[in-house]
Amino acid sequence: MVEEITRCTRCILPSNYPNIDFDEKGECRVCREFDEKYAKIDWKAREAKLHKILKRYRGKGEKYDVMVPFSGGKDSSVVAALLVEALGKDRVLGVLMPKGIQDDIDMAKLLVDHLGIKSFTVNIKA
Ligand SMILES: [Zn+2]
Repeated sequence: MVEEITRCTRCILPSNYPNIDFDEKGECRVCREFDEKYAKIDWKAREAKLHKILKRYRGKGEKYDVMVPFSGGKDSSVVAALLVEALGKDRVLGVLMPKGIQDDIDMAKLLVDHLGIKSFTVNIKA
């Protein structure tokens, strides 16, 4: 017998995901918890605080204002892109820290090219 899998109407998590349930709209517990956690955050205030911090360092470095490590994963890639947007590509130095997964290394190199930033690679041996 094949178990029929349903998916969250919002994030597509499957019904066989651990401890998942769906509400009347078909949205999952993970989506509801995300909304509860992040709805309370004042994102505009946080952005203003970030810009205040960035302003403190902008133009103070000899060449770069910020060094951003990234692995090619989505979290660090978004941070790198946001810093380039806020500071400009010439003020951001990328530090590629690949975890050894070729797809991530390729993605990190693509991101560096796309953002137009200078970078160097740090190889970490476990
Ligand atoms: Zn969901």
